[in-house]
Amino acid sequence: MSRSTSSAGPLPGHVSVRGAREHNLKNVDVDIPRDALVVFTGVSGSGKSSLAFGTLYAEAQRRYLESVSPYARRLFHQMAVPEVDSIDGLPPAVALQQQRGAPTTRSSVGSVTTVSNLLRMLYSRAGDYPKDQPLLYAESFSPNTAEGACPQCHGLGRVYEVTERSMVPDDSLTIRERAIAAWPTAWHGQNLRDILTTLGHDVDTPWRDLPQTVRDWILFTDEQPVVPVYAGLDAKETKAALKARLPPSYMGTFTGARKYVLQTFATSPSAQMKKRVAQYMLGADCPVCEGKRLRRVSLSVTFAGLDIADMSRLSLASLATLFAPYVTGKAKIRDSRAHPEKAIVTQRIAQDLAGRLEVLLDLGLGYLSLDRGTPTLSPGELQRLRLATQVRSNLFGVVYVLDEPSAGLHPADTEALLRSLARLKASGNSLFVVEHDLDVITQADWLVDVGPNAGEHGGQILYSGPPAGLREVKLSQTRRYLFDEGKPPQRTPREPAGWLAVEGVTRNNLHGLDARFPLGVLCSVSGVSGSGKSTLVSQALVELVSKQLGQAVSAEADDDSPLAPAVAPTGGRIASGLEHVRRLVTVDQKPIGRTPRSNLATYTGLFDHVRKLFAATPAAKKRHFDAGRFSFNVSKGRCATCEGEGQVMVELLFLPSVYAPCPACHGARYNADTLKVTCRGKDIAQVLRLTVDDALLFFDGEAALERPLSVLQEVGLGYLRLGQSATELSGGEAQRVKLATELQRAQRGDTLYVLDEPTTGLHPADIDRLVAQLDTLVAAGNTVIAVEHDMRVLAASDWVIDIGPGAGDDGGRVVASGPPAAVAKTRPSRTAPYLAKALA
Ligand code: ADP
Ligand code: ADP
Ligand code: ZN
Ligand code: ZN
Repeated sequence: MSRSTSSAGPLPGHVSVRGAREHNLKNVDVDIPRDALVVFTGVSGSGKSSLAFGTLYAEAQRRYLESVSPYARRLFHQMAVPEVDSIDGLPPAVALQQQRGAPTTRSSVGSVTTVSNLLRMLYSRAGDYPKDQPLLYAESFSPNTAEGACPQCHGLGRVYEVTERSMVPDDSLTIRERAIAAWPTAWHGQNLRDILTTLGHDVDTPWRDLPQTVRDWILFTDEQPVVPVYAGLDAKETKAALKARLPPSYMGTFTGARKYVLQTFATSPSAQMKKRVAQYMLGADCPVCEGKRLRRVSLSVTFAGLDIADMSRLSLASLATLFAPYVTGKAKIRDSRAHPEKAIVTQRIAQDLAGRLEVLLDLGLGYLSLDRGTPTLSPGELQRLRLATQVRSNLFGVVYVLDEPSAGLHPADTEALLRSLARLKASGNSLFVVEHDLDVITQADWLVDVGPNAGEHGGQILYSGPPAGLREVKLSQTRRYLFDEGKPPQRTPREPAGWLAVEGVTRNNLHGLDARFPLGVLCSVSGVSGSGKSTLVSQALVELVSKQLGQAVSAEADDDSPLAPAVAPTGGRIASGLEHVRRLVTVDQKPIGRTPRSNLATYTGLFDHVRKLFAATPAAKKRHFDAGRFSFNVSKGRCATCEGEGQVMVELLFLPSVYAPCPACHGARYNADTLKVTCRGKDIAQVLRLTVDDALLFFDGEAALERPLSVLQEVGLGYLRLGQSATELSGGEAQRVKLATELQRAQRGDTLYVLDEPTTGLHPADIDRLVAQLDTLVAAGNTVIAVEHDMRVLAASDWVIDIGPGAGDDGGRVVASGPPAAVAKTRPSRTAPYLAKALA
């Protein structure tokens, strides 16, 4: 039986889903085997995640929450009840989703994998202590505990100071002109200035002309005099008022600039405030712990000659090598005669450690170090870290639900991923994986193909069974690619029109690298994960080019960056070729907005035209409604109850709050008067509910709308609704919305587009369309540089730069550079054999 989408009773050994209707799912039934590697396929937007995460995982989670106390339930995120009639045979589930938001700053590779705990135990029980020093507890080796944290820097490893230059960036200004930029703005700033006037200081002389002693006192004093303030009086009038002992406006407390900055940074509850003052602070390694974050007694304990901080800076691969002799018991242990238990403890911990490291190395993460902060990892790296932890957790009877685990993986790394998945399965678990990578799909025990297309045109189960059976399913788009009929057409690469050369690039694992990027072509940058592709392209190149062009690096990037500790700027320079680049555009996977009020139509700008069309209707003119009336960001037209969000938060007494459709507008977002105006027979709320595909037909003949709508359709987003909120878009969808927004602009050429793994989340069919779009940009005289793993994209590029040969310190060099066919023949390149296969 190859198709098991019957509505008969549940099959034994299977998870049986009946009547699934989450998002676009069309009331589907499906039976999925347990204890197997099940892969969910289909074009993007077809409904794979809605089935795997939105239905199966959500239901498992809900049942789990039902079984725990209401109190514990509040601690979890609210999970909606999935739209499904019944699910039978569902085991408890663990989801390993790709997280895009920044996790807490203090979590690191060591803490996520729990390897740091093991090391702390090792140092506590089997470390080499200086003579006569008593043993320390394991907590003493953690910078996040009071026992371990360096008292000088509180375990941060860095100390922050301020200088006159950092707080007064422009010393030609007077105090009234805000020379002390670090001081608070608005009322509090005026207050401090008025206090200085009372104290007799001149606030109208340029800062640099004030005596140094005065400047130092204002900036650095810890004194906090409380003085009468005469608001609005100038220096002379204040003096007179003081003399006459007139009643002051109020008594003001002075705070020096340094004290203000450091105090705000340490104690303000507002991240915004912290961020503001952080820009006036300079960071340096803590002089007491030398940046190692621990007390000196903790650092005096060593193992294999290293303190625990040095140990945590080693790559996982080096760590595995270092511990190998301790696993077999061959390594010499100091004092083992006096303390025989030391040898036993060492061997036991070393064995556990080696087991964990083996999985991490196997997943291609050997280049990471334990002290690497999780916010600096890519979502794919983080998912694989958590996967490695699960492989060692010895759970069984669980279903792991994964979201494109191959993201960010070079084909060479994918083989290791498959081995880890096989281990989880061998220990008696089920694996439900949403995946596009053909190498993973062919290894599946069972395929669930969702489609045939996206959104409304998808949501059906086309096939559920062993991979081979998909060959017969004519409607499936996956079939073509899986059974070798979807080879990319042969093409002749374009010649580069010039070169953008960078020199001496130094950052992460790049040490003085020189590289040349071809201009006027589609260039892919490849290499195993951790080889340095993103460092070179998304970090160094973007930073150097934007600096030269005087263009700020994407402002959004700021939101995710941790406080103060500024990343050291990239070393290196643009050597030549920049005269051919007038504009830089980075197209990344960051969300296009964070509130439900920003959506597809607003982001792409096409909503402006829609609102103008509504304002131009006779009905709107009669009522004097302008375009602003049709914006849900402006109060006159929107629903007053939900303020244009279409939903309201409902507070429940003992349960987490939930969102419910707005009782006043029922999700329409607008007030009744606004909805009275129609354009071509639909009101504005109905228009926002149109998909891109439908809108194109609906607005037929409207030139200003046809262009943006058809571009959205071309990048494969025809299934999205115009009002689809930014918060509901996946990373890949967000990236394609940005790309479409770019494509609809008039093309002037001379723009450099930088993309980081644009194929993430894309089915091979979507990838072909994406490449066609990138080609359009190049044809208009632009340059596209993409970090990419997908061999179809590499094969379709004009030029390939392969970074490597390995990861971390084994990478960071240009291994090959040339047209795809030439790179495919380069011996040391680990990409070459895979590329050769794709070109064959
Ligand atoms: P896939 O995983 O195959 O890419 P999804 O299951 O994410 O597809 O999406 C299927 C459809 O459901 C798409 O039309 C998508 O826009 C829609 N969708 C996804 N998430 C939501 C959501 N939270 N609310 C409403 N619609 C959604
Ligand atoms: P790729 O893009 O090829 O997967 P990356 O450029 O992300 O590789 O990483 C190259 C090397 O630089 C790796 O050793 C990685 O651990 C290191 N690295 C990347 N980002 C950071 C960072 N923010 N902080 C420290 N090291 C980093
Ligand atoms: Zn310190
Ligand atoms: Zn409302």
